[in-house]
Amino acid sequence: MTGTPTPPRRTRILIVGSGFAGIGMAIRLRQQGIEDFVILERASDLGGTWRDNRYPGCACDVQSALYSFSFAPNPAWSRVFAPQEEIWAYLRRCAETYGIVPKIEFAQEVTQAVWDDREQHWLVTTNTQQWVTSMLIVANGPLSDPVTPALPGLDTFRGPVFHSAQWEHAVPLRDQRVAVIGTGASAIQFIPMLQPQVRSLHVFQRTAPWIVPRRDRGIPLWRRSLYRAVPALQRLVRSGIYAFRELTFAPFRRPGAARLVQWIASRHRAAHVADPALRAALTPTYTIGCKRILLSDDYYPAMSEPNVRLITSNIAQVTADGVVTADGHSHAVDVIIFGTGFRATDPPLAPHIIGRNGKTLADHWRGSPSAYMGIAVSGFPNLCFLLGPNTGLGHSSVVLMIEAQIEHILGLLALMRDQGSAALEPTPDAEARYVRWIDARLADTVWNSGGCKSWYLDSTGRNAALWPERVGRYRRMASHVRAADYRQAPVAHEHPQATAYDRATTETHLP
Ligand code: NAP
Repeated sequence: MTGTPTPPRRTRILIVGSGFAGIGMAIRLRQQGIEDFVILERASDLGGTWRDNRYPGCACDVQSALYSFSFAPNPAWSRVFAPQEEIWAYLRRCAETYGIVPKIEFAQEVTQAVWDDREQHWLVTTNTQQWVTSMLIVANGPLSDPVTPALPGLDTFRGPVFHSAQWEHAVPLRDQRVAVIGTGASAIQFIPMLQPQVRSLHVFQRTAPWIVPRRDRGIPLWRRSLYRAVPALQRLVRSGIYAFRELTFAPFRRPGAARLVQWIASRHRAAHVADPALRAALTPTYTIGCKRILLSDDYYPAMSEPNVRLITSNIAQVTADGVVTADGHSHAVDVIIFGTGFRATDPPLAPHIIGRNGKTLADHWRGSPSAYMGIAVSGFPNLCFLLGPNTGLGHSSVVLMIEAQIEHILGLLALMRDQGSAALEPTPDAEARYVRWIDARLADTVWNSGGCKSWYLDSTGRNAALWPERVGRYRRMASHVRAADYRQAPVAHEHPQATAYDRATTETHLP
């Protein structure tokens, strides 16, 4: 924190982040009659990953009918897989419609959170302010901090360099020689957009991804009007997509189903890449699903164009005017774009969250994030995560997971109100049992045994990112709170200030 210190501001609930998770949480709090909350957002606008990722061609690879809040259907989606601008606009509209915008404090980046066990509250420090809150909800998402590899010589490069999540739209790309480093979910979306305009595109691939057909299409106006007139119809479509995507979980656990999807992906590649050498270079060498399965109809055609070069030799160094690979070739380029992903299993806030015993969350995790239900951690009272450890998905919409977690957190607040407790955290035993179960369910998935190194795996090699079952199972588990799994601390009556505060904050209308 810089500048003149101001007294801490108080709020019952502090939410960190204003993406789908933070906005969804805020809406549901308001719907439950809880108004005493604030969202802290480090940027100057809301929207999370859908605000940050503005690269050409950015779109969701989950159908929008499902990648949206169940309580806020959007009949106006223009495409089955809506583009980024529409998703961002949808989120902004939700925030406006439900009166969330005035609840957001922009340009406040959390730098530290310390639990005060005597007062039973969190003291949260941002770059400009201190906050006192009873409940801290961390909703800053696993894909919010881009990673740019520290390639030798990168600082000597003369041209522009940027990451796909920080796209520099002012940098002209037309007729330029452009290097793209990475061939993950983001890169395969922007490469087809760049190919027609650049002079040459040098795609540096470390691992070939599995790609299946996307089959995106526009939604005709008559159908949008129909959804508007008969909302039940869109709900039916959503349910159909939900059920279909639950079926697509099978390849992650069943080798037979994986072989079928691999066959579909291989036919897709063969249909679009005529050159056998290029096709071989684009062929993955691990089992499908081990890394995220990508969807695209235009990536392979773009890679087959004469102005595109696929480079599979490792990058040795960057020079003033290009990239040198381990095979000794120099690739002269004017611009370098990184599509190299995010800091997903190493949450940057973890070393700065200090719990009941003075231990940081990073100390507690020791390189491998985990949480009871992916939401709560023992020793860290009144701390909840949205999209926390092991709640990501490889087959369906994370908005479903977010909504289930929000309802669970509302259940925790209700439990605290009903039992008159000021603080709540999972017991170490419940947490350990839950994490053991997650690890056992992960053991026979392709994520652990598919022969790849994905961003799902943390520094210890454990999958700390994904939920190991269908979404339905998580929704059922999260739909009720097992009080016995939580340690609760009563309101500290010897602290009159805390008592009054906590009494006031429990007088709400929860389910
Ligand atoms: P990513 O999938 O993690 O891909 C990163 C790419 O960069 C990979 O090809 C990786 O190669 C490569 N890479 C990383 N470090 C490298 C290095 N030092 N040298 C050379 N290559 C390097 O990242 P992303 O594409 O940004 O996507 C991240 C996640 O965001 C996705 O998995 C998905 O969950 C989400 N996303 C979703 C959508 C959507 O449509 N909903 C769109 C974009 C992203 P290796 O494979 O060898 O590591």
